[in-house]
Amino acid sequence: MVRKPTLVGEEERLIAIARNITKRKLAEQAIERLAFHDTLTGLPNRRMLGDRMETALAASQRHQKHGAVLFLDLDKFKHLNDNFGHDIGDLMLQEVAQRLLQCIRAVDTVARLGGDEFVVLIQNLSIDAADARLHATTVGHKILSSLNEPYRLQEHTHTITPSIGATLFLGHSVTAPDLLKQADLAMYEAKAQGRNTICFHTK
Ligand code: GH3
Ligand code: MG
Repeated sequence: MVRKPTLVGEEERLIAIARNITKRKLAEQAIERLAFHDTLTGLPNRRMLGDRMETALAASQRHQKHGAVLFLDLDKFKHLNDNFGHDIGDLMLQEVAQRLLQCIRAVDTVARLGGDEFVVLIQNLSIDAADARLHATTVGHKILSSLNEPYRLQEHTHTITPSIGATLFLGHSVTAPDLLKQADLAMYEAKAQGRNTICFHTK
């Protein structure tokens, strides 16, 4: 806002220029959302998970508390797509995302990496490795039992199970990409053990 120059005796005037920036702000927020979230489920994507993992590693280093990464892959998910169609598969992925969110605390993160792969990042576990492992196992079992519940998708009821690979971290001992690899390897072990189970990465 500026004061308009006035001649002596002339009434004072102010000039105000207002621009509507709401649209631009909304567009910026939409771009930000697309960059860091999975469009199907609304969950954080791989990129945001990477950021959250870096922050979690730094916090773990600072507070000397364990964290855990759970890597989930749905079992025989292709069958559901093949037998009932991609749209039913999509609905299943959305329901799985909602159930995973119900299984974690607000400080933790659920992300979708793509396909039928999800990652749960758990923070603030015990300083004691055995306690931390027990806690992560409890969360893993909670997830197993929640995802094992039947799914009502359109007019049919479906079932699905996950295979879960888990790994613990303390401080910066392992990088975020390596942690994901460890959890991924453990997930393959869970598949090899017959699926619908949780396996821990062994060092
Ligand atoms: P496995 O037990 O070995 O994991 O068997 P699987 O059938 O689940 O095999 P895999 O995990 O390799 O395949 C995941 C499938 O998920 C492949 C693809 O058809 C399907 N898929 C990937 N992205 C999407 C998606 O966005 N929507 C739907 N509906 N399906 C997807
Ligand atoms: Mg799968």
